[in-house]
Amino acid sequence: MCNGEKKLKKILQDLTLGELEELVSGYGEKPYRAGQIFRATCAGAEISEMTELSKSLRARLSAEFEDAPVKILQTLKSSDGTEKYLFALADGNVIEGVLMKYAYGNTQCVSTQVGCRMNCAFCASGLNGLVRNLSSGEIASQIYRVNREQGGSFENRKVTNVVLMGSGEPLDNYANTVKFLRQITAEEGLNISRRNVSLSTCGLVPEIKALADEGLQINLSVSLHNPFDGERKKIMPVANKYGINEILKACDYFFKKTGRRYIFEYSLIRGVNDTRACADELIRLLSPRPCHVNLIRLNEVKERGLEATSDSAAYAFLGMLEKGGLSATLRRRIGVDIDGACGQLRNRYINNIVGEIND
Ligand code: SAH
Repeated sequence: MCNGEKKLKKILQDLTLGELEELVSGYGEKPYRAGQIFRATCAGAEISEMTELSKSLRARLSAEFEDAPVKILQTLKSSDGTEKYLFALADGNVIEGVLMKYAYGNTQCVSTQVGCRMNCAFCASGLNGLVRNLSSGEIASQIYRVNREQGGSFENRKVTNVVLMGSGEPLDNYANTVKFLRQITAEEGLNISRRNVSLSTCGLVPEIKALADEGLQINLSVSLHNPFDGERKKIMPVANKYGINEILKACDYFFKKTGRRYIFEYSLIRGVNDTRACADELIRLLSPRPCHVNLIRLNEVKERGLEATSDSAAYAFLGMLEKGGLSATLRRRIGVDIDGACGQLRNRYINNIVGEIND
């Protein structure tokens, strides 16, 4: 069920408008058909629903491409308005996403991989390793489907902001992620503003630099979680490969190339990274830099056995950073009642299935 046993056909949503034009011309169809197909995919339609196309064209597309690469399997609504989605991929794998509703618009959190190979000590996504990368069209389809589910259309978007903070390490799936970023922000597509798109990485240095060179005006977030290399290695295996100094240099390069201030994600774990020493070191490292620190209390993942910092200690930590001159916020945890943290819902789903099989 979760190992992608079924072989995938091609993904129609991977194609750019130009590639669709080539495709329909190869089929001997009129060029305007490409635009129809493109708009229909962006609106979240399945091939069988593209009734403005002839039956024979639909049959031809269905023979070559997946009818629905991403389907909504389950929706969970939190008491705070957050909606969590469980999606089924065409090969039977499942991924998850979240829609957060704010006064200024709706932010969707998308997954870039099935599972993750980074294995951070607090995160549910890496518990079973990496299963596979998602294609750009599979990442984009999460948005196309949720936009449609929310009553949005091609012209009238209900998803205004996108964060790459679901399961997976986006920069470990670099080419597809960048293709997705171009696709979702393209004028002829959903045309989401690049300033409304944020990519979060555990700190893959060469890829951060490459991303800076792409000329995309998106926001960069780096998951820091500890300002000391030795301590960071204990909770983030990737820290064995890239040290904090290298990461900071890559972030500065990103700023130089894009003019965009960057963000550090910092999940507060009781007794692990919420000490005065951590706050002081964060201030020393980050206060001269054009950055912001996003604090969040850990979402506890049962299998990981780590505890969240208390509310009062989290506010005290925020106070220390602010006093030291850092720009910082403590984000409220959202959707805790619906397995809000990365990978939690997918794992529960998979465990239930495995449980059923074993019963
Ligand atoms: N691979 C990317 C995206 C991961 S998810 C990255 O590492 O940035 C987005 C953020 O949630 C990351 O900062 C990640 O470290 C954090 N995160 C993962 N599990 C968490 C948990 N249980 N509680 C709080 N934050 C968590």
